[in-house]
Amino acid sequence: MFAGVREFGNDRAMEFAERAARNEEIFRGVNERIEQGAQRHQLTTATPFHCECGQADCFEYVELAPADYERVAAERYRFVVVPGHELEEIERVVERHEGFSVVEKIGQAREQIDRDHPQARHRS
Ligand SMILES: [Zn+2]
Repeated sequence: MFAGVREFGNDRAMEFAERAARNEEIFRGVNERIEQGAQRHQLTTATPFHCECGQADCFEYVELAPADYERVAAERYRFVVVPGHELEEIERVVERHEGFSVVEKIGQAREQIDRDHPQARHRS
């Protein structure tokens, strides 16, 4: 029994969604430390955060106020990205701002987050 083209396509999509979710997890961790540091120093000005898009070779930054980042990060399916870095296959744009977009995971990418984090994110 050979895997059909259709099945292969689904596997590829799944793998892509998984990989994208993992990349975002890494940058989310880095960004949360940036955000916590900014809050500690009571910074309210725009601060550079890593773009949280799913591309492994993206090292661009978005600038937003730490309070805005915290608001986005509090929603487990939401991420900040450079405008134009939205991946239509795995997320939809929920907010567009001058220097950043907020995207929300859909479909398999969302299920991946649920698998990786069965409990709600704990923020310290
Ligand atoms: Zn990016």
